Amino acid sequence: MTPRFRVEHSLNGKVALITGAARGIGKGIARTLARCGANVLLVSRDRAAGEKAAAELCDAGGRAAFHSGDVTDLASMRTAAEKAVERYGSLDILCANAGIFPSSSLVELTGDQWDEVFKVNAKGTLFSVQASLPFLRKSNAGRIVVTSSITGPITGFPGWSHYGASKAAQIGFIRTAAIELSQYGITINAVLPGNIETEGLSELGENYRRQMINSIPLKRLGTPDDVGFAVSFFASPEAGFITGQTLVVDGGQVLPESLTAS
Ligand code: NAP
Repeated sequence: MTPRFRVEHSLNGKVALITGAARGIGKGIARTLARCGANVLLVSRDRAAGEKAAAELCDAGGRAAFHSGDVTDLASMRTAAEKAVERYGSLDILCANAGIFPSSSLVELTGDQWDEVFKVNAKGTLFSVQASLPFLRKSNAGRIVVTSSITGPITGFPGWSHYGASKAAQIGFIRTAAIELSQYGITINAVLPGNIETEGLSELGENYRRQMINSIPLKRLGTPDDVGFAVSFFASPEAGFITGQTLVVDGGQVLPESLTAS
């Protein structure tokens, strides 16, 4: 007789904190993890938007709450991590997703613009990890998933030298973090989205959007859920032997060798 297997949702009962979750990719990650059975704490600054996003997830049958927090402030992120534990009893998964991508040509780029992008994207990742660590160490399957980008680690794009550098910095960070965190059984990996249909991307305008669709072999932009599915794999117990790695989610955008190949 065929042995019976147990039907299970692998994230059932896990607790996840997702930064930048009020909208866009973060909201997609929160939705995907909630659908896999996780309790999710959405963290970003705008309270009204965050509470609305959490309410939508609860209405759809998920277990979700919002906490207002700023990734550039370590104390604020510590409070956010404590809130997750206070509300749901543990913290097993951190999704360090919050990020900004203002555009500026290299010639016009100021030191302040450079610092601002690094403060949110790179230092924000560090603070989110540091704040969550004491609790992730207590989990028997601590998981960190960072949202990086194809821009920087793989590709270049005029206007985003500072952004690309900050996204590449995240990859450098996870490689050493993976080694340091291995003693606690915590894994850290990164997803590298291509162009994903989010509010942030819409702000770049219709021209950018059209140009991007044309350069993607699958001929569509990604959805926040596309990224969420990749994150849910890294966050799962099944991915426990994978750390310090990256997964590109871009519809094949980085593949073409010439402009006509896409
Ligand atoms: P988005 O639509 O602009 O959303 C960004 C989220 O981050 C918002 O919820 C925002 O909320 C939050 N946030 C910004 N600064 C924050 C801070 N200091 N502290 C806490 N939360 C903060 O952006 P997105 O397109 O979803 O991008 C999310 C991530 O994916 C970013 O790391 C981005 O680099 C990466 N990514 C995006 C794409 C894409 O095509 N969309 C492609 C590759 C990589 P508040 O302003 O209320 O805090």
